[in-house]
Amino acid sequence: MRCMDVSLVLELRRELEGTRAEISHPGSETYHGDIKSWSDTCEKEAGAIVNVTSSEEVSITINFARKHHVEFVAKAAGHSTSNESATTGGIVISLHHMRKVLVDPASKTVAVQGGATWEDVNKATAEYGLAVVGATASQTGVAGATLGGGFGWLTGQYGLIIDNLVSARVVLADGSILDASEEENQDLFWALQGAGQAFGVVTELVFKAHTLSNKVFGGTLYYTADRLSKIVDFANWFHNQQDEKSGFFFGFRAPSPVEETMVMALLFYNGTMEKATSFFEPLLKLNSVLGKVDMMSYAQINRLANIEPKAEGRKWIGGTEVSFPLGKKLAHELWLEFNELMVLYPSMGNSVFAFELLPYAKITSVPIDATACANRDTSYNAGLLLCWRDANDDAVLGQKARALLRRVRRLQGRDESDEHVRSYANYAGHNYSPKYLFGSNLPRLQDLKKRYDPHNAFHKWHNLVPQIHDQRH
Ligand SMILES: Cc1cc2nc3c(=O)[nH]c(=O)nc-3n(C[C@H](O)[C@H](O)[C@H](O)COP(=O)(O)OP(=O)(O)OC[C@H]3O[C@@H](n4cnc5c(N)ncnc54)[C@H](O)[C@@H]3O)c2cc1C
Repeated sequence: MRCMDVSLVLELRRELEGTRAEISHPGSETYHGDIKSWSDTCEKEAGAIVNVTSSEEVSITINFARKHHVEFVAKAAGHSTSNESATTGGIVISLHHMRKVLVDPASKTVAVQGGATWEDVNKATAEYGLAVVGATASQTGVAGATLGGGFGWLTGQYGLIIDNLVSARVVLADGSILDASEEENQDLFWALQGAGQAFGVVTELVFKAHTLSNKVFGGTLYYTADRLSKIVDFANWFHNQQDEKSGFFFGFRAPSPVEETMVMALLFYNGTMEKATSFFEPLLKLNSVLGKVDMMSYAQINRLANIEPKAEGRKWIGGTEVSFPLGKKLAHELWLEFNELMVLYPSMGNSVFAFELLPYAKITSVPIDATACANRDTSYNAGLLLCWRDANDDAVLGQKARALLRRVRRLQGRDESDEHVRSYANYAGHNYSPKYLFGSNLPRLQDLKKRYDPHNAFHKWHNLVPQIHDQRH
């Protein structure tokens, strides 16, 4: 693999002449801003950043990178914590100038450019009393979440993000630009719905939108640890309800200024205040010590899980699936383990471990082999985000984070021989091999890689065909 040098940057500039793409490289004024990521751990010395504005510019850049054996990655809002959107010496194809959102109220569809965030989408759809199923943290990018399957507060009603995807425009490893949907390039469309980051750079996505003219109920509440047992009772009750209009995340966090580990609860209900407060009554009666709930816009509720890029600048994300009902002993042991980390490493206040409960009937109504996403069953995602300051702690915190997730699995009676799909692909980091993320869909994905990316140029997210090393990159 070759690193970009001055002559290559000049050549790339010549190839992109006449387009609106902007290149920054070491030494240019915009360089440091352009290599910034949400996590400082992913701030790498790229050889060049191409700020693209069209599919054609993406295509030229991919062709250039492959011709010169230079690594390339796609980057939208930069929330990967596993270096998937960063490169040392290679080319970052940055889509953050491609954030247009076009709403068609007549067909109730929304066309979104490949660099948009959910905030961009939520603002645009709100003007028409519409909403799409999008991630619960609106600072994150649309394309990455969608291509990995994706879920959000409206998942109970409308399924995964990909279940609401109508079509996508994608630039493949050979530079060709294809549209994929149920009508054209169906195989590619199937692969994009859950394993898309391994197939190309998506420049446009079209989603089904849903009427949402009302405000929704929600908020974040924090409780002292002695309430954990009652909150687990509520979570188990919530699990039994499977009320499609609801959503409930709970877990642990040591928020500022309290700086002590609390039990955190994120509430969502797409209904009236009266209906929602009656649904969440057992929780609301528990006397939280911080936070509040209220009626709010869809855009507002999707800001509650946002986490500032700075504060503790270094970040690690991982996940595993969990089954309910949840044992209280397990919850308590995890609280102890999370708390120990918070005590040992001060200033980790944005870190959070959460069980993410979203009613799953719509998710499981789609057969596993209908899309590439294999993370569809009656379990939920548990996500762990660690945030810290000191680079010297990187290795040990990575180990501790992985150990905590392994413990969740062990406490649930799952060991390493368990063949089940283990995590949502976008939370998985590089902790699981593709076999444990795509399950029975992996062989078809590997076949499709032969057709759409035979040299495995897109391997940085989850490497679906580790046996193929791209010679040309
Ligand atoms: C705080 C937080 C909360 C989250 N909550 C949710 C949630 O509620 N639901 C959910 O589903 N997910 C959630 N996620 C996961 C998140 O959706 C994914 O990590 C997403 O990929 C981040 O996209 P990005 O553009 O911000 O990051 P980036 O680092 O820019 O991209 C992430 C990955 O997507 C690839 N990519 C980006 N743009 C494109 C493109 N246009 N074409 C092809 N590949 C592309 C990158 O190469 C990289 O592999 C959360 C993540 C965080 C950090």
